Amino acid sequence: VSVVLGPAWADTSGKPQTVLNPLRVQNHVTRMAAAFVPGVIATTTLARYYGLHPWLATVAVDRGLDRDGYLDLVRRCEVALAWISAQHTDHVVDLPIAHGQEQLPRFTSGGVLDLQAASRPLAYVQNPSGFFGSTYGNSEMELGLLTADWAPGPRFSDRARVAVGSGLGALLDLARNTTLTENAGKEAAAAGLCVCAAREGEEGSWLRDLLWGRLGGERWAPLDDARRSTATLLTRVISHSATPVTDPVAAMRDALVYSGPLEQVPAAAGLEIAAAWRGLLLRHRAVTAWRQLWMEVVEECVGITATEVAQRIAERFDDVSVADFIDALRTADGDRLLPAEETVSEEAPGVVGCVAVLAAVSQRVGQLDGVALDVLCGDDEAELGPRWMAAQLKAGRDYRLREWVAQRVTHLLERSQRVGLEKFRLDEHHRGIIPVQVRERDGLWRKVNETGSAPLNLRLRPLADVLAGCGILDHRNGIWSVTALGTELVAEP
Ligand SMILES: [Zn+2]
Repeated sequence: VSVVLGPAWADTSGKPQTVLNPLRVQNHVTRMAAAFVPGVIATTTLARYYGLHPWLATVAVDRGLDRDGYLDLVRRCEVALAWISAQHTDHVVDLPIAHGQEQLPRFTSGGVLDLQAASRPLAYVQNPSGFFGSTYGNSEMELGLLTADWAPGPRFSDRARVAVGSGLGALLDLARNTTLTENAGKEAAAAGLCVCAAREGEEGSWLRDLLWGRLGGERWAPLDDARRSTATLLTRVISHSATPVTDPVAAMRDALVYSGPLEQVPAAAGLEIAAAWRGLLLRHRAVTAWRQLWMEVVEECVGITATEVAQRIAERFDDVSVADFIDALRTADGDRLLPAEETVSEEAPGVVGCVAVLAAVSQRVGQLDGVALDVLCGDDEAELGPRWMAAQLKAGRDYRLREWVAQRVTHLLERSQRVGLEKFRLDEHHRGIIPVQVRERDGLWRKVNETGSAPLNLRLRPLADVLAGCGILDHRNGIWSVTALGTELVAEP
């Protein structure tokens, strides 16, 4: 077994590699978001697809199709839906574009889509099972809409079949064609076949029951309860906001973290999950700071020693003591949490802001209690959590800040190597693979792979998108609001 670090690992795939979770600080946040928004993932942004795939499974049963036949039907319908949605000029709600829509120009000439070519395996999406395989399938199985072998699931009832069929029925004929013209797409869009048009009639009613967790079945009750609680919270937050909501995640953060004690936040009334979200939104802020700080460290790895890397990061900080740095943070005013995490990252972008955010979040350990504190501090020791950080800062209070930061940077470099070794695996040629972003050789550190520094997806934005897709929320001209149907739903006891 030969062992390959970084670059050769990247070479085996033929495309640039992104090392996921290189510091291993984000599993807790990912797990909690999954538990609070079950059935929705970062990429499942369009409600209509939740009905499309199980409905096509019922069609496949009727037609006696095998698995390949089902997948061919799925791909053709997904391509047709994307084409139709691309021709719609008057969307009833602002949603992300249809899945695969941006690939269709490659299969279009003179305003005519080659549907046959576009719907071949791996044509409009890098998954032979289409967006059913790449994106929605697992959620649809989790929700009981499909079985593991792609038959209609226990919660895809006759009612569901009729409801989804009433909205999407005309798609089947269009999907049979070898080609589709722009006019055909326009007509179909006007007749309600765009991704934006799933809110009407029985289809909309069924999708709202699905996403609001009202399809029933004891087996799904815990998942339905969690998703409904988060959806209720999100809908109320948007409804109660004093200013127009342009970012649902920021609105949740402002309402649940920085608006005073949760007992005084009307949107949180009677919802236990509000406290959990308070803890998660703060922990998420810390994880984002770790990711950004690490990216800056990686960029400094240009063939120099760990000490030099650490120095280059440390010298961006003022020459003050750790105590002075921490004591300058204003994180609370009585029992109201102040938005220190937001303020410091605006005032000091880059590594200084990152460390200030981590310090601010560590102070929340003494300010939260109960469920909020548990979620804030989950996997604390293993994932450099806020309680761990509070202990580091306390132990380092009398140090110079630059010296303390340099120690942390050295520690991160060592940690990244350890995490890489723990992820050791064999590739298809039986070569050992250690997925790392930076590599040390003869004491010199170099960047060998990319990583992401964007905030992790908390699934709140995709939840907002599917709630808009089924008519509970509205999203127009960049502003989020609650529909009459949504207002009725949150008013229910
Ligand atoms: Zn539309």
